[in-house]
Amino acid sequence: MDGRETAVLQCDHCGVEADHVLQYAGRLLASTECSNCGFTWHRGEADLREEYVKDLLSRVWTKPARWQRRLRRRPVSTLLELPAAIATQPLKFVREFVAVLRR
Ligand SMILES: [Zn+2]
Repeated sequence: MDGRETAVLQCDHCGVEADHVLQYAGRLLASTECSNCGFTWHRGEADLREEYVKDLLSRVWTKPARWQRRLRRRPVSTLLELPAAIATQPLKFVREFVAVLRR
């Protein structure tokens, strides 16, 4: 996930079902922006940082178990994906930290 997705949601501000840009910090929803009226919702800064740290620790601690499950289900494709997944982790975390700290 690059931290941005779009989804059709009903806007709390204008009431229209429209595309919304969803910004994530890791797995946490950090903000949404309505393409119809431009209304932007932001998760509170302190809440985002606190929840991000909790989520990050959870992801780090459960990572080995998740890879083991993937290896059992899809051994060949998992082994092929593993080097790229390891190589992209530092960049992925830097992008997430920047997204959290820019707020
Ligand atoms: Zn709207």
